[in-house]
Amino acid sequence: MKIAFFEIEPWESEYVEYKLGLPVSDLRFTPGKLNVNNLPPHRDAEIISVFVGSKVDVDVIHAFPNLKLITTRSTGFDHIDRQIAGAKEIKLGYVPGYGDNTVAEFAFGLILTLSRKIYDGIDRLRETGRFNYDGLRGFDLKGKTLGVIGAGRIGMHAIKIAKGFGMDVLAYDAFPNEKIAQELGFNYVSLEELLSRSDVITIHVPYLPSTRHLINSENIKKIKKGAILVNTSRGAVAETEALVKALKDGILAGVGLDVLEEEGVIQDEAGFVLYGHPEEHNLRTALANHVLIDTPNVVITPHNAFNTKEAIQRILDTDIENIKSFAEKGEVKYPVPEK
Ligand code: NAD
Repeated sequence: MKIAFFEIEPWESEYVEYKLGLPVSDLRFTPGKLNVNNLPPHRDAEIISVFVGSKVDVDVIHAFPNLKLITTRSTGFDHIDRQIAGAKEIKLGYVPGYGDNTVAEFAFGLILTLSRKIYDGIDRLRETGRFNYDGLRGFDLKGKTLGVIGAGRIGMHAIKIAKGFGMDVLAYDAFPNEKIAQELGFNYVSLEELLSRSDVITIHVPYLPSTRHLINSENIKKIKKGAILVNTSRGAVAETEALVKALKDGILAGVGLDVLEEEGVIQDEAGFVLYGHPEEHNLRTALANHVLIDTPNVVITPHNAFNTKEAIQRILDTDIENIKSFAEKGEVKYPVPEK
């Protein structure tokens, strides 16, 4: 069995090596991301394990002729070409549910940063030394309405947290679960109703063809004036230009993002311009991201919502379970969902 891990830190490699307990003839750890421009010299691995910064597209899949399993140490799997993998009968494993609380807690971090202007206060003191609260008045979450787009594992946890804050909750989901809605005390509504009634909107759907630009320049106009929107799911679920416009028009009073549309670009902008053959729409999105970064009532973090000690350990444990079950039974324990 030959296994190659990518985007992995030295302490994680040690943990994997210690926990794997499999007869592995070749176990390689590469800190860098895997993509077509960054292929390793040895490409005989039967199993590769990646994280969200890698792009496992058709060229990468073809570059590993012996590939039988791809695991991603993440809940999202939109960085892997599922169709090509399926056509080549390569199994796909992922990590469901490692970070229900982890990501939901972070979403509330962004919400509070905006609702109480916490970053602005810190920045003022650091930059100017002024210890005053002029212009830093925020609003209470208690009694406000939270709209949760995608009430799955993370979304449900966000709902529980919101209840602790004394918020009313509305949810929009393709597969409503009325029993849980009753237990937790929230209501499912249409997306349009959620947008028009929520004071705070938090997005937790996966990135799928059906969720691309779920928030877009048309329906963003339906958002209650002065609401704040937080996205910790995937950047392209909310159309970047629509966010810029909604902020400019005063529809949105604040935006908190842990993910950006085309976030791979911002990690290597020079490479994108020099070698990326960007299309006009990619360039527009890249520019719109910079506009957002420079907008005062916007807070952006670098895809960090998953990043706690506990969550990473859970991620590695699940990835190891996937690899072990494949090695022992030919099936991954947590296969990437078909749809
Ligand atoms: P989940 O599968 O448990 O929940 C997703 C929910 O979205 C489900 O209830 C599903 O029914 C709903 N949904 C799917 N398609 C929909 C559609 N078209 N319209 C309405 N609802 C739809 O997933 P999760 O564990 O809660 O994770 C959600 C997403 O969060 C992941 O897919 C991933 O992209 C993202 N995530 C981000 C980070 C981060 O670090 N920022 C970390 C983990 C996960």
